[in-house]
Amino acid sequence: MNDRIIHALSGDGMVRITVADMKNAVEQARRYHGLTPTTTAVLGRLLVAASIMGADLKDDQFSVTLRLSGDGPCGAVIAVSDGEGYCRGCIQRGDVELPLNAKGKLDVGGAVGAGTLTVIKDLGMKEPYIGMVDLVSGEIAEDITQYLYHSEQQPGVCALGVLVDRDRTVRAAGGFILSLLPGADEEVVARVEKDIAALPPVTQMLDSGMSAEDIAAAALKGSFGSVVKVRETGYRCRCSETRVREMLISLGRSELEQLAAEGKEAEVACHFCDKVYHVSIDDVLAMIQE
Ligand SMILES: [Zn+2]
Repeated sequence: MNDRIIHALSGDGMVRITVADMKNAVEQARRYHGLTPTTTAVLGRLLVAASIMGADLKDDQFSVTLRLSGDGPCGAVIAVSDGEGYCRGCIQRGDVELPLNAKGKLDVGGAVGAGTLTVIKDLGMKEPYIGMVDLVSGEIAEDITQYLYHSEQQPGVCALGVLVDRDRTVRAAGGFILSLLPGADEEVVARVEKDIAALPPVTQMLDSGMSAEDIAAAALKGSFGSVVKVRETGYRCRCSETRVREMLISLGRSELEQLAAEGKEAEVACHFCDKVYHVSIDDVLAMIQE
């Protein structure tokens, strides 16, 4: 089944939930970057969060970038989503593998370490919106919840999960962001807290065959209203030869002339997928002259 993101509302219109089922996208990331089970969970969770936040933006042309800067062994981690929820991402040290944590889970918090989460939202304005919070645990979902509350004054809860199979491929991946909308009173808050506390982990729900719609219904329980939008999603890199040339041009003439002295061709590997571009430096220099 294709990766999907759905948006749903509670019957009273006080709670919104966006649920993502993204096994294929996370598996694609694992293959592109040669990830271990630990780093598959790290990058996978961040990709799911980025896609949900991207899909929640108001316009397809907008984008959101999540950056984890922790002192753990996996280094910096970046996930980007466009306004449709299509994501891409990279991780500094994809080969890091840690023992399972005390709960018997992939040690995402241990791999990320202590540090910050930065969120950059390009909303089509002159300047992007940038928010930053200290990491709570490095487990990512809690960190996103904190970010939404403190930087966007958006109370709610984020849950993320990546399940890696014995053969190291991705068995299930997904998550949700549930948001309390303006007007939600204490009664609604208490109801949501109770329902979320009773909810099984995301990976368990996905692995048992529950769809994104089923998860939305389970999270909202008796107050479930309707699914308002369903969309396909996936891993989508936006690199191209044109973009690589633009990047080289931005280096400037002297840097390019130095490169030309070292060799005729520049080899540029994309950070987000497995493409490698070979660009003639002379061609780029000629483009600057034009
Ligand atoms: Zn690429």
